[in-house]
Amino acid sequence: MSPTVDTAVPVGDAILRRQRIRESAARTYARSFPIVPVRANGMTVEGADGRRYLDCLSGAGTLVLGHNHPVVLAAIRRTLDSGAPLHLLDLATAEKDDFTTALFESLPPAFADRARVHFCGPAGTDAVEAALKLMRTATGRRGALAFTGAYHGMTSGALAVTGSVAARVPLAGAGDVTRLPYPYPYRCPFGVGGERGAELSVTYTERLLDDPSGGVAAPAAMILEAVQGEGGVVPAPDDWLRAMRRITAERGIPLIVDEVQTGVGRTGAMWAVQHSGITPDAMVLSKAIGGSLPLAVVVYREEYDGWPPGAHTGTFRGNTLAMAAGAATLRYVAANGLVARSEQLGARMTARLDGLRSGLPVIGDVRGRGLMIGVELVDPAGTPDACGALPADPELAVRVREACLRRGLIVELGGRHDAVLRLLPPLTITDEQAEAVLDRLGDAVEAAARCTP
Ligand code: PMP
Repeated sequence: MSPTVDTAVPVGDAILRRQRIRESAARTYARSFPIVPVRANGMTVEGADGRRYLDCLSGAGTLVLGHNHPVVLAAIRRTLDSGAPLHLLDLATAEKDDFTTALFESLPPAFADRARVHFCGPAGTDAVEAALKLMRTATGRRGALAFTGAYHGMTSGALAVTGSVAARVPLAGAGDVTRLPYPYPYRCPFGVGGERGAELSVTYTERLLDDPSGGVAAPAAMILEAVQGEGGVVPAPDDWLRAMRRITAERGIPLIVDEVQTGVGRTGAMWAVQHSGITPDAMVLSKAIGGSLPLAVVVYREEYDGWPPGAHTGTFRGNTLAMAAGAATLRYVAANGLVARSEQLGARMTARLDGLRSGLPVIGDVRGRGLMIGVELVDPAGTPDACGALPADPELAVRVREACLRRGLIVELGGRHDAVLRLLPPLTITDEQAEAVLDRLGDAVEAAARCTP
């Protein structure tokens, strides 16, 4: 008898089973989306089981041109064929030079004209660390001002267990972080909602910083997102951002804007700071700037460039392919009207989703900017808070995510209670794909609210 191959278990199921038993308990998306992608093109991902999905996760907001965009693939192929070295620490290369040119051309001129860039280890969190260290060095202060609902990354303690006294002692540790209230009209930290909540956040920040007994030592920096992503897609009002810029400038506090998720057209501006017109002291960039490959930088005004050689090193700061893919992506987004497309289509999709609220009371709030859209799911039977917001419903959100997947739609959750559906489609999404996303999402919310598949 000839040996038999066990074909009873589909290959995708076998891979998923091996992943379950071999990979870390800390894995995340793999739990939410038990699929094995084998091919991806634009917004479509095909699983090993032959099913096709519309991808509104886009590598957590990374893939502004979708999967395997021809321009990105061409840049990668060109670089591979050129024989350029692929890994180079922070040495000068033509690819890095070109990426830096593309990046500086894309940044607001008032910022880019007098800016420096530092290439970091290839993760947003490393660039955040770099920005904080830079400002600690520049100001000689330790503390930072940060906001409720903020997400800036996951590294902790790497410096704390590093031996080098010179590297560690002046900067290690988180320092004191003073947490300030981020405006969030639906779940207002002051219980008043609307514009008033944002105004109170400004007043509170200003008075706290000026109160000699407020408990806050002069900080090294303020760090914020112009639209909070992981915090539940919460856009800050432009006036509030301008106020934070004024408050920090008046008090000599460097302002770091974390554009890891909001950058490269995602919010309907090339960079989210452009909505308010503020010029930060530093911008932290990652995700989309690498054109789907790992890359992270901090860009900052040159007067802060006083840190010594080696102040923020890392092995993988010279990813040639990511620089080529990133430069191609930045130029393609700018040259093909994708920023305006993000703004217009995002507004249309947000309005359509908002329109679902009347028929689907489980949708508590719909908000966003450009193609960064959030749908907050609530329990309509719960007791409203002072602003009329109903309790978040994370269990319903999980059911909706599952119902979306069954309908061929990949949507991840976020927000304070993990009850916000977060839509981050590529900026190349077509009108037909947008319709399909909205139809599938609406259908999934309805089914999940009725507890049917
Ligand atoms: N800042 C923001 C605003 C983010 O959204 C993220 C990631 N979601 C990070 C920083 C951290 O980036 P990374 O996961 O690449 O470390």
